[in-house]
Amino acid sequence: MTVPSDIAIAQNVTLQPINDIAHKLGLSATHIEPYGHYKAKINPADVFAMPAKAKQSKLILVTAINPTPAGEGKTTVTIGLADALNRIHEQQNSAERTVVAIREPSIGPVFGIKGGAAGGGYAQVLPMEDINLHFTGDFHAIGAANNLLAALLDNHIYQGNALNIDPKQVFWRRAVDMNDRQLRNIISGIGKTTDGVMRDDGFDITVASEVMAIFCLATDLNDLKQRLGNILIAYNKDKQPIYAKDLNAHGAMAVLLKEAIKPNLVQTIEGTPAIVHGGPFANIAHGCNSVIATRVAMHLADYTLTEAGFGADLGAQKFCDIKCRLSGLTPDAAVIVATIRALKYNGGVAKDDLTNENLSALERGLPNLMKHIENMQEVYGLPVVVAINQFVSDTDAEIELVRQACLAKDVEVALTQVWEKGGAGGEELAHSLIKLLDDNSHKPSQFRLAYDSDNSIADKIRTIAQRIYGADDIDISSLAEAKIRRLEALNLDKMPVCIAKTQYSLSDNAKLLGRPTGFDIHVRDISISSGAGFIVVICGPIMKMPGLPKTPSAEHIDLDDAGNITGLF
Ligand code: ADP
Ligand code: MG
Repeated sequence: MTVPSDIAIAQNVTLQPINDIAHKLGLSATHIEPYGHYKAKINPADVFAMPAKAKQSKLILVTAINPTPAGEGKTTVTIGLADALNRIHEQQNSAERTVVAIREPSIGPVFGIKGGAAGGGYAQVLPMEDINLHFTGDFHAIGAANNLLAALLDNHIYQGNALNIDPKQVFWRRAVDMNDRQLRNIISGIGKTTDGVMRDDGFDITVASEVMAIFCLATDLNDLKQRLGNILIAYNKDKQPIYAKDLNAHGAMAVLLKEAIKPNLVQTIEGTPAIVHGGPFANIAHGCNSVIATRVAMHLADYTLTEAGFGADLGAQKFCDIKCRLSGLTPDAAVIVATIRALKYNGGVAKDDLTNENLSALERGLPNLMKHIENMQEVYGLPVVVAINQFVSDTDAEIELVRQACLAKDVEVALTQVWEKGGAGGEELAHSLIKLLDDNSHKPSQFRLAYDSDNSIADKIRTIAQRIYGADDIDISSLAEAKIRRLEALNLDKMPVCIAKTQYSLSDNAKLLGRPTGFDIHVRDISISSGAGFIVVICGPIMKMPGLPKTPSAEHIDLDDAGNITGLF
């Protein structure tokens, strides 16, 4: 099979005008604000004023096993499955409709290592160039809101520091949507007396900013403002917390976000409506699209497909215990994406040998998939279907082995070829999903959370470590212990925890593949995103400002004379 490059496929599609896409959702031209011909903002208030499309709109989470470094195709499968569901419903003359609600990619990685985040092959959201680049400007607005707070904070110190902020205990950093390691650690305020107060400073990539996490968890404008006001930005010299609201920053920050907060409507290659909005990191933040976008999608559709970052131990866990807990959303099912190559990787095969058939390695890797299935079913009470995202190198024997392992566990499994065939390649998966959701012989969703957020911080971490990762226990550094005690003293300890650890293993050690046992989770540090509403638990090295590789993809990205982009994926 020869599949052209993502951009070649994308540029060959005749896009439908955005009004036609809106029409498929029951929205008229007055409900949307077009940004050009193929993108539009949707005003959530207008949508919620309409009657909901479905009595029981279904929310389906697409997640994955522990991946190889190349990514296992969650976004691709999410998009292709939505196309497949719409195909099936059209064939059946059913009025049921499906919408995909996913994250917006960050610009930084686009110019770094090859690979976009708008799907791939024949399962993409379009216009992919725009979506992967500036899109409707939301991320720039988020960066601006972040940097307004930074400017207000340093100006406050410069203008006499009435709040007695300790410049050595400022946590708020600046943000830019670019992979730029040079800005990771800087000294700001150098120069003359009138050039500000000198202090250690630094930049995070915009998607790692707490403003991004807040943007994605806010339920409306008022909630957005409150969360922005609750950002802990520094301690004063008496070790008391200083919040963004102490600088009266939250109103102006919300003003900068007022257009960005409206979800963006685009389309898939097959004309399925897609809502692409927000994109927080999945390590120090919760890795899901915005709550507002998910709610809008569910209001307009019978089936909403959404994706959480990384594997299910990070992404799905945070989707449930952070996003759903804080918003009250209830998922109906989970699709777990597995690839033969990632299963072999989990079985110990080196990255370069993943394309050779290896049934014994596959067998060794399968327990990783089984653990994620058990977590979704037993911890969160969700019905599960496994999607085998097929790659050219997969052999029939390998696919059959995975199929049998799932069937032995009484789990629905479907071969998925959406990358190669678009929605037509996702019909088996779509049928399995519908069966799972409709069939009474399967237990319906009995969605529940993994822990009570009123428990102690250590208890919450231990519960995730033991129930989700399969760890024996946790080990908390003295630095983290001291910070936990400080949060307890400030009454900031009753929030859910957001664990930042490697995505490659169920443990905190990227080399422990498969389904490891006999390990502890090491808590190195703790920080708080008090505006977003979670405690960040740092287990291992965490990168909030990525760098570029030796040969950045930027070197191969160009424009032709007609203004068409070349070399983008
Ligand atoms: P994730 O969301 O899990 O990070 P993506 O859907 O973004 O993964 O896919 C990662 C990369 O793999 C993309 O470049 C995509 O085009 C490619 N890809 C996904 N599925 C397949 C497949 N079945 N065959 C070949 N390439 C694929
Ligand atoms: Mg993705």
